[in-house]
Amino acid sequence: MDDPRRAIPSVEKLLSEHVLQQLLETEPRNRVVNVIRGLQHEVRLNGAPEHDTDWYVQQTVARLQKLRQPSLRRVINATGVVLHTNLGRAPLSEAALRAIQETAQDYSNLEYDLSAGARGSRYDHCTRLLCELTGADAALVVNNNAAALVLALHTFAARKHAVVSRGELVEIGGSFRIPEIMERSGARLREVGATNRTHLRDYESALDGEVGALLKVHRSNFEMSGFVSEVSVRDLVPLARAHSVPLLHDLGSGLIEDLSDVGLRGEPTAREALSAGADVITLSGDKLLGGPQAGILLGNAEYIRQLRDNPLCRALRVDKLTLAALEATLQAYAQGTARTELPTLRMLTMPADDIRVRAVALQQKLRENGIRADLVPGTSAVGGGAFPGSELPTFLLLTEASIGASEPRVIARTIEQRTAIDLRTVRPQDEAAIVAALTRA
Ligand SMILES: *Cc1c(COP(=O)(O)O)cnc(C)c1O
Repeated sequence: MDDPRRAIPSVEKLLSEHVLQQLLETEPRNRVVNVIRGLQHEVRLNGAPEHDTDWYVQQTVARLQKLRQPSLRRVINATGVVLHTNLGRAPLSEAALRAIQETAQDYSNLEYDLSAGARGSRYDHCTRLLCELTGADAALVVNNNAAALVLALHTFAARKHAVVSRGELVEIGGSFRIPEIMERSGARLREVGATNRTHLRDYESALDGEVGALLKVHRSNFEMSGFVSEVSVRDLVPLARAHSVPLLHDLGSGLIEDLSDVGLRGEPTAREALSAGADVITLSGDKLLGGPQAGILLGNAEYIRQLRDNPLCRALRVDKLTLAALEATLQAYAQGTARTELPTLRMLTMPADDIRVRAVALQQKLRENGIRADLVPGTSAVGGGAFPGSELPTFLLLTEASIGASEPRVIARTIEQRTAIDLRTVRPQDEAAIVAALTRA
């Protein structure tokens, strides 16, 4: 009789409560019942502490609300890191969003040749634009750049050696290491040189056995300085030609348009990388290119044909929504409107003075809400492993106030225990939400 578990209200009793009765008008009964059972179970596990009926009702409502909330949600990026991998990398342009909607809401000619009235190939989309923009002879789009690299190594170097410098065996993100992915492709890794220095003769001496490909990898997220040397793509070309093996260059970020006028230097454009003599280059769609997640292979037509004919290509294939967004993104470059149309290029080329003007206005709004923030010069980052040594001058708002829960959530950096707001990556229409999030906390 004294067993406290008896105090747990029954499902029937809870469902008869007015609030839950109302909830049942919009929520399937079994979903509500499952939530209540889960709740009862937890209470029993915790030794059945006593709660009144209202507590059970409130918990049930709150849990159901959480279940309705999408797992993947928009956030406001106030970090100033433009290509923030954890926050989804490149936001898409209006045109790319329209293209996705058009393609998604009805049927499309994804694998249908409209002029021939017959079966076509999804791999024909985007290729003309990619070749126009980079000077490539041929192009292939797959799921992402890691997939592009796996496909290239599997096609050219499975059960053979893929020769790569020890200075380029990089880890890109938490779970992406060049040497590991190379081995999973079936290629046997043939490391040459030392971490800091690799010479042409190191590559030469590796070309004894069965070599499938030479690989150059952009170091992406770090720079080497001091006693260092590497062999350029240009200097590797004669070696690759003499041994009739493809020279692959994994560019990573995929710069299409030169950005040296805003201080971003040292990253080759896709066109430059190809004209240096690489047979096939690989790059991401959602880094500097500013489009959807995709892996882009560009280069020699015969090599691209071999990549396309590899059955593995089917497992790495690109989705139609990606193709729609990528085509619209590439079109902006072709029209010469990339810097105004593509959010990432807009953010990367945004003058620090424009950010300062916005920050001053936001500082004033915060003050009106009783929050003090200091305006200080600082730096934004490109992110996504691109331009590792480059910093974009910006203006930061530093405040003791912390960020409260808000929808969408505001994500910011912490600098010396203060919240740092960088408006470079914030859309003007989201500034009010930042004031609200800081005020609430
Ligand atoms: C980012 C990066 C990759 C991986 O690209 P994903 O599109 O994220 O798969 C591969 N190689 C280099 C050099 C990179 O910078």
